[in-house]
Amino acid sequence: MGTTMMIRSKLESKLVGARKSLPKGAKAVLSALQQAPEMLSARDLSFRMKLSHQAHDDKGKSPGLTTIYRSLELLTRHGLVQAVSFGDQEKRYEVVEPGHHNHHLVCKSCGNNIKLKECLLERLEETILQEYGFSVSEHLLELFGTCQTCQLAKNINNTDRR
Ligand SMILES: [Zn+2]
Ligand SMILES: [Zn+2]
Repeated sequence: MGTTMMIRSKLESKLVGARKSLPKGAKAVLSALQQAPEMLSARDLSFRMKLSHQAHDDKGKSPGLTTIYRSLELLTRHGLVQAVSFGDQEKRYEVVEPGHHNHHLVCKSCGNNIKLKECLLERLEETILQEYGFSVSEHLLELFGTCQTCQLAKNINNTDRR
């Protein structure tokens, strides 16, 4: 096992521990987020959790927005959830593999997003370390543009007008 692998598995067991010791509210938020088909804002999450509480006729109250925000913050800090900025006011959240992160291509026209298969910045971080002696500990990258479907739709509309 290489050193990186060892660090990674140590990190993972630490995160599994963190998951167990989460407060009830955060656990509920995490499982609601895990069941969601897409990234959700805190508001979306609150809405979904209220609905599912009603559907299951739960006696307990579904967590309020403040608890949801606090839980999301905690989960993000533990590396279990990633906050994604879509370039608007509200951040979206998604569950990530412990210690991993995702990058997204966000379509400005329809709001759909595509997850990048891999992080393309690891090499860049190495270059920065070599050239600037700067050790990068984290990075954020979301790319905004137009998805293929929207590009096609736009082309069709343009042809129609002619
Ligand atoms: Zn689109
Ligand atoms: Zn990355």
